[in-house]
Amino acid sequence: MKYSNKENYFDAIIVGSGTCGATIAKELSKKHKNVLILERGGNEPLKESLMGYAKISNEVRVTDKLKDMRAFTTGGTTAMYLAVADLPPIKTFKNLGIDLTEDLEQARKEIPIGEISDDLIGDQAKKLGESAKDLGYDWKKKLMLVDQSKFNSKNFYEVKWKARTFIESALRDGATLINQAIVSKVLHDNKKAIGVEYTVGKKKEVLKAYGEKIILAAGSLATPIILKDSGIKNVVSHGFYINPSIGLIGSIPGLASAENFCGCMGAKLDDEIELMDANFHRFLFNVGMLVSAKPLRIASYPKHVGITVKVKEPVGGELTKEGKYSKKLTEEDHRKLLKGIDAANEVLKNAGARKIFKTGLISGGALGTIKIKEHIDEKLQTEYEGLYVCDGSILPESDRVTPTLTLVCLAKYLARHLAASL
Ligand SMILES: Cc1cc2nc3c(=O)[nH]c(=O)nc-3n(C[C@H](O)[C@H](O)[C@H](O)COP(=O)(O)OP(=O)(O)OC[C@H]3O[C@@H](n4cnc5c(N)ncnc54)[C@H](O)[C@@H]3O)c2cc1C
Repeated sequence: MKYSNKENYFDAIIVGSGTCGATIAKELSKKHKNVLILERGGNEPLKESLMGYAKISNEVRVTDKLKDMRAFTTGGTTAMYLAVADLPPIKTFKNLGIDLTEDLEQARKEIPIGEISDDLIGDQAKKLGESAKDLGYDWKKKLMLVDQSKFNSKNFYEVKWKARTFIESALRDGATLINQAIVSKVLHDNKKAIGVEYTVGKKKEVLKAYGEKIILAAGSLATPIILKDSGIKNVVSHGFYINPSIGLIGSIPGLASAENFCGCMGAKLDDEIELMDANFHRFLFNVGMLVSAKPLRIASYPKHVGITVKVKEPVGGELTKEGKYSKKLTEEDHRKLLKGIDAANEVLKNAGARKIFKTGLISGGALGTIKIKEHIDEKLQTEYEGLYVCDGSILPESDRVTPTLTLVCLAKYLARHLAASL
């Protein structure tokens, strides 16, 4: 308390209200801790529309050609994700000294997790699945974070779980949320974190908030920069991975499909190449066609089928001294992509698809910038006492999974330890 007055002092300051920040805020507030959440984005109601997405989406260049996407809003990137869920790699985390078993059990009780039931799967996805199985691929349903009990055949967006619901719970339990708050650095004294510096909106005034525990949950591309600007230098050179991905879209004459939960099925070709259902519901399909400069395809949505090819590339690249990310994809990465593209083409053609085209290459999510046991310990604490990191930046390169469910579990794990020590 020696640094500030009571109003400006918190048990925990959480930077970012996305998957991890929201989960930690909810858990600590439930235990009557005094929590401040500083969120860069706004708090407008979430809407799946071109305007709605344009207001919250943000891109960061991660290679000379590719950009990574994220969302600045209360609830973070779950405002625009697909809601596909892999289970956390429990063993990998156990080997790092982190047991997520209990946290996964809890998460299952609080978040709708399950496979999409057969009657809610569109004909495009069914057709694709039959074709893949016919060719011998182990095409299986994936778990999704979707509340199917509330599905009314139109509200694909609304029934996806979003981290904003956890922020709402934290606010009901007394947490303070400041929107448009951009945290630039962590204040520290004698190797102990004591607070953060931030600005609000376009105002130039630098504000300070103080707390016992500071948690950086600003997302995998923002947190390393805040650490670097706070004097923790060793995060800059570790590199990261982006799981480069590409979509293949074709149309099947005569197919008259309804809509679909994109990503609800898929198969692994091997440990490094994955094919995923890319049968978007109508809104996302329209956006995809506009981005791919294929607006004429929009009218024939019910005939379209798609597959995303996602490959693993080794960790590499760096966060430069100027605070920019840079990475080069190798010939081997492109070879894996080509192998996946060949397989996706085969599945689409076998399903009867014609006029197949490739979308541009995209980053499948830049993650893994910060290494557990190197930059942070098994309690997720940095070299500054009281400063923790919990977001996509800490996901290990081995056993790569779609991140959200793992991040919820990691955030619950951290909140358990913080609550015990506060
Ligand atoms: C199009 C798309 C589809 C996806 N689909 C899936 C999927 O199907 N399944 C899956 O598991 N994952 C998916 N993801 C990835 C997933 O959404 C993210 O990995 C996950 O939400 C990351 O959580 P996080 O807590 O690390 O960060 P985020 O959820 O990004 O939250 C970070 C928050 O910090 C805020 N912030 C940033 N900088 C600052 C700052 N300086 N000060 C204050 N606040 C700051 C941001 O505004 C944001 O709200 C998808 C991502 C995208 C872009």
